[in-house]
Amino acid sequence: MSYVITSRCAGVKDQACMDVCPCECIFDAGDQFVINPDDCIDCGACVAVCPVEAIYADTDLPDQDLPSLAYNRDFFRL
Ligand code: SF4
Ligand code: SF4
Repeated sequence: MSYVITSRCAGVKDQACMDVCPCECIFDAGDQFVINPDDCIDCGACVAVCPVEAIYADTDLPDQDLPSLAYNRDFFRL
């Protein structure tokens, strides 16, 4: 499991999630921020501080946000 940042981050990008993440696994991907699924420890701290509710556990992603799963993962694997 990992947490995933959805496209609702785009246009906001206030870094609040990055500031509270204990393992530095959140990065600026340009259009939006993304989470490295290999390093996320599933603490959930980032969820509470996001002003636009852009962050979900991968197991709770709304159907329309499923493409965000690959978008986050591929940033670190391509
Ligand atoms: S769930 Fe925790 S470890 Fe994972 S990205 Fe959010 S703050 Fe970082
Ligand atoms: S807290 Fe939310 S809006 Fe801010 S950078 Fe993180 S995901 Fe994007």
